[in-house]
Amino acid sequence: MAQRLLDAGCVLATAPKQADCIIVNTCSFIQAATEESIEAIFEMCELPHVEQGRAKVIVAGCMPSRYGDELEESLKEIDTFVPCSKEDDIVAIVESLFPGRLGAIASSKLSVSPSVYVKISDGCDRFCSFCTIPFIRGRYHSYSLESIDAEVQNAVDAHAREIVLIAQDTGRWGEDFAQAQDLSQLVGFLAEKYPSTWFRIMYVQPEGVSDALLDVIAQHENVASYLDIPFQHANKDILKAMNRKGSGSEYLSLIKHIRNRVPGVTLRTTLIAGFPGESEDDFDELCSFVEDAELDYVGVFAYSREEGTRAAKLPDQLDEEEKQYRARRLRDIADAISAGRISQRIGKEMDVLVEGREEDGQLFGRALCQAPDVDGVVYLSSGEVGSIVHVTIADTLMYEMEAE
Ligand code: SF4
Repeated sequence: MAQRLLDAGCVLATAPKQADCIIVNTCSFIQAATEESIEAIFEMCELPHVEQGRAKVIVAGCMPSRYGDELEESLKEIDTFVPCSKEDDIVAIVESLFPGRLGAIASSKLSVSPSVYVKISDGCDRFCSFCTIPFIRGRYHSYSLESIDAEVQNAVDAHAREIVLIAQDTGRWGEDFAQAQDLSQLVGFLAEKYPSTWFRIMYVQPEGVSDALLDVIAQHENVASYLDIPFQHANKDILKAMNRKGSGSEYLSLIKHIRNRVPGVTLRTTLIAGFPGESEDDFDELCSFVEDAELDYVGVFAYSREEGTRAAKLPDQLDEEEKQYRARRLRDIADAISAGRISQRIGKEMDVLVEGREEDGQLFGRALCQAPDVDGVVYLSSGEVGSIVHVTIADTLMYEMEAE
């Protein structure tokens, strides 16, 4: 949306209080995200120039897709709503709010950070029973190799050094084309065309971890030996109730297989604690799985009962306190394992992408074993932002690393 608006002659404001038009791009896949989105919307609506009618507010993204008319009824102060399906029309929508004001300025390029997310598909057909995403984002559809390549080229031209490939379900990329392709082909193509750029693949469902993909990761130095595989649970019956395949033992075999095929691989997962019907034994099984799997990073969420999903109607819903308690317990176990694994990196040499400075001036970056936003950073003593430096890890503190 930002690039389309820049192409149409808009200028990106440095702060909302300077903008004529504020677009709040919302998330609403769980209640907590919806609440955060609403907070952001109110914060914008309370800005003096918005209250005085000198600026307009647009609410875009998943919240209008999920709540539609209901949202329009309850947020009268918003000028217009742009559901996901209408995001491509953002220029026409802004133009209708500001007739005759677009196009006066020559288009400029969106400035990019050293690490850029590139979406390779949208939607999901898996219909996990707890998840609202298939209802919000629609059926699975892959973006063409050509359009992904063009986006990567743009980012590389703007000096991005890392491309993070994302989607709700990256492992299925290409299977919906008339002539099916697969993720390993896409990653191999990009890694070879852009040898100085790092590539990282996020959110590969267990079924999407193919040997071809593992081989592409193992064979290319510029593809992070890193996989984020959402397992969600380990108990077979809970997984079945989640409308997901597999079991803890199958997942442990898969992890072993990945580690054999991609030596030194870093693994992340996401787990849900307190799903409806999760007994003490089921939860213990999940805790044992985390202990046995010894993953590098684990994201733990307390189950969120989402209106309109099948899981919301299941019997034996756990109370909020118990869900939070289980999530905390699981997080503690996972944290202890992660801290141990990360501390094993002390003394190791690795490449780090220099990303920027914190408020106090401390320089930081990320190694290939750390995904942006979720896995902590590496603190550095020197380096230019956007460059890749070779360092030795001197110390670690939980998720953070310090380098020389
Ligand atoms: S695979 Fe992910 S996005 Fe798709 S339904 Fe399951 S949890 Fe939701």
